Amino acid sequence: MWMLVPVAFAGKLLSAFRKPLRSLWSSLVPWVLWLRATLWLPGGQSARPPQPGRGEAQGSRGDGGQGPEQPITPTSVNYHFTRQCNYKCGFCFHTAKTSFVLPLDEAKRGLRLLQEAGMEKINFSGGEPFIHDRGEYLGQLVRFCKEELRLPSVSIVSNGSLIRERWFRTYGEYLDILAISCDSFDEQVNVLIGRGQGKKNHVENLQTLRTWCRDYRVAFKINSVINRFNVDEDMREQIKALNPVRWKVFQCLLIEGENSGEDALREAQQFIISDEEFEGFLDRHKDVSCLVPESNQKMKDSYLILDEYMRFLNCRNGRKDPSKSILDVGVEEAIKFSGFDEKMFLKRGGKYVWSKADLKLDW
Ligand code: SF4
Repeated sequence: MWMLVPVAFAGKLLSAFRKPLRSLWSSLVPWVLWLRATLWLPGGQSARPPQPGRGEAQGSRGDGGQGPEQPITPTSVNYHFTRQCNYKCGFCFHTAKTSFVLPLDEAKRGLRLLQEAGMEKINFSGGEPFIHDRGEYLGQLVRFCKEELRLPSVSIVSNGSLIRERWFRTYGEYLDILAISCDSFDEQVNVLIGRGQGKKNHVENLQTLRTWCRDYRVAFKINSVINRFNVDEDMREQIKALNPVRWKVFQCLLIEGENSGEDALREAQQFIISDEEFEGFLDRHKDVSCLVPESNQKMKDSYLILDEYMRFLNCRNGRKDPSKSILDVGVEEAIKFSGFDEKMFLKRGGKYVWSKADLKLDW
């Protein structure tokens, strides 16, 4: 077939030249069109490689035609560098499955990679972040992030039981926000939940930490998980007295493999409350101006969580599936598997005034 094309075309050309000029072009046009169709569109499809037209690009990226994938910026990252904890909260969803902690230099390298990728806020969490090396390891990371990486916001979430004033003296100036977990102002309820620890009173300790935060100029925040044992409590008076910059109120969440399912170290089913019960708690506390509610829906995919190996944890399927470590493949590659919902992050108010300099606090 391909051999016949030039022969046929030459014959037609010769016979065309025997005709008057005015009819020459009209004779050639169909042949030119036929040649173009034959050489470029065998079987009705282009033989050329696909050009990156808009439709082709979308299809090949597998994004369902929603438009080109936007790279995710790790604006705010939660680094759970240890899973160890001195408490045993029944609903804990980051349990002590390993005792691994990265060497300090490796953790710093990972934090620098995140900063280069656009991180503005780092939150250190656990487990209990003050348990490793009596808070020294944590202090070194806090100072590194503020002094060397110059991050606008450095924060910690802790149960508060292992923090000493000495730590504030050494590292307080580098810390923007300290969030303390407190689920009840009734010590008996704290014990029921698993936040009791012998003679030490969680509620009294909270007051001490509040004072140190004021003295060492660290913004004070409270996190509460609303569950079966505290859902009917009225915390208005105590929260107002402690006057945190933010009171984050979470609905107790089930995570497969952490606090639910066969392999889990906890069984949190008995702590779970309905959406209506959570709404009831929020309604009772609606005049507390610093309250920031977080339902399960808002919470699930709107956090960038790094585990102790610096792997992003994807919670989309109701469990925590790890990516590769950012130390091995870089942030851009690892974050693709984070399952992070950036829109929900913004919708839940994930980006707020998070630097203590901007908070303009009346200490
Ligand atoms: S204090 Fe936090 S990390 Fe420790 S057991 Fe309780 S929920 Fe888990």
